Amino acid sequence: MIIFAFLKIKQVVKLHDLQFKPFISEEEIQKTVQRMANEIANNLKDEVPVFIGILNGSFMFVSDFVKKYPNPCEVTFIKLASYEGVKSTEDIQRLIGLTQDLSGRTVVILEDIIDSGNTLEEVHRIFKNANVKQLIIATLFYKPEAYKKDYKLHYVGIEIPDKFIVGYGLDYNGLGRDLPSVYQLKTTQHMTNLV
Ligand code: 5GP
Repeated sequence: MIIFAFLKIKQVVKLHDLQFKPFISEEEIQKTVQRMANEIANNLKDEVPVFIGILNGSFMFVSDFVKKYPNPCEVTFIKLASYEGVKSTEDIQRLIGLTQDLSGRTVVILEDIIDSGNTLEEVHRIFKNANVKQLIIATLFYKPEAYKKDYKLHYVGIEIPDKFIVGYGLDYNGLGRDLPSVYQLKTTQHMTNLV
């Protein structure tokens, strides 16, 4: 059983037409989420923050994060990014789901991954007039080589190279979100095949 589990973790995953190789283990992800939860709790002390996950990609991160967060908090989700296939698009959809009055509150955005920063720019635009006490950005994964904006990232889980990943909430054309660990696109594949 243990050997089988090991083999399963080491497996290359095929999603649609593409192969992905193991990249970040479940254990490393969970340790990172715990570290981020502790750091944020230590810095926010007695504040009761509103954690806002950006759907769809952040659902696993937010779920694990709030379970590990040691203090009282609120949690909600918004949906705004469109990301088709493996290329970050300029076409960002409108915000869905934010109905709560956040004036005077400490808001912590929980992002699954920051790539170009286009989504983050949209988040800043949305919260500019929300009168929040502070807007804190926390991202589990961050691609520094791809990031094109100047917005401060207050908490970063793991820096990764500018390569497409799946798993732990992140998908490739709908598949792979359910994987508990993260896989990276095998680079031997022809980029022309990518959506
Ligand atoms: P950005 O707007 O910073 O370019 O990208 C943010 C969004 O693009 C993320 O919330 C995520 O949905 C998607 N994204 C960026 N990089 C990746 C990646 O490597 N894999 C997957 N599956 N989605 C990504």
